[in-house]
Amino acid sequence: MTHPTDHDPACIFCKIVAGQIPSRKVYEDDELLAFHDIAPWAPVHFLMVPKRHIASMAQVTEADQGWLGRMMTLAPRLALEQGCRPYPEGGFRIVVNTGLEGGQEVHHLHLHVMGGPRPWLKG
Ligand code: 5GP
Ligand code: ZN
Repeated sequence: MTHPTDHDPACIFCKIVAGQIPSRKVYEDDELLAFHDIAPWAPVHFLMVPKRHIASMAQVTEADQGWLGRMMTLAPRLALEQGCRPYPEGGFRIVVNTGLEGGQEVHHLHLHVMGGPRPWLKG
């Protein structure tokens, strides 16, 4: 495990992890939290974050392979649980916006997991 207590008091997702801002939880364990996006683009749209504060994918190192791999392998299971239809008719989209030109608005690394019947609001 990396440092699950690392925390940025100014970060909105750290506040969600700490329970200081409410969220609709999808999944939680020692290292990871998943919760519904407040402004969904798709019928299923949740976010997956490491509990420890890490700003973006631009900062990951080999030390992050464990939780990052777990997050990616957990995403398909949670997508199905949240109502995405099975592959190949259904499926889902995983997006990790990184940096300003990558469209990142919240600077705490997060996976968007989106799916469900089309049309979607965006994308
Ligand atoms: P980004 O553009 O950084 O990839 O995406 C940030 C996402 O976080 C957006 O989709 C936005 O709707 C979501 N978001 C921002 N603030 C909150 C919040 O307070 N609660 C939840 N659940 N989602 C949020
Ligand atoms: Zn944070």
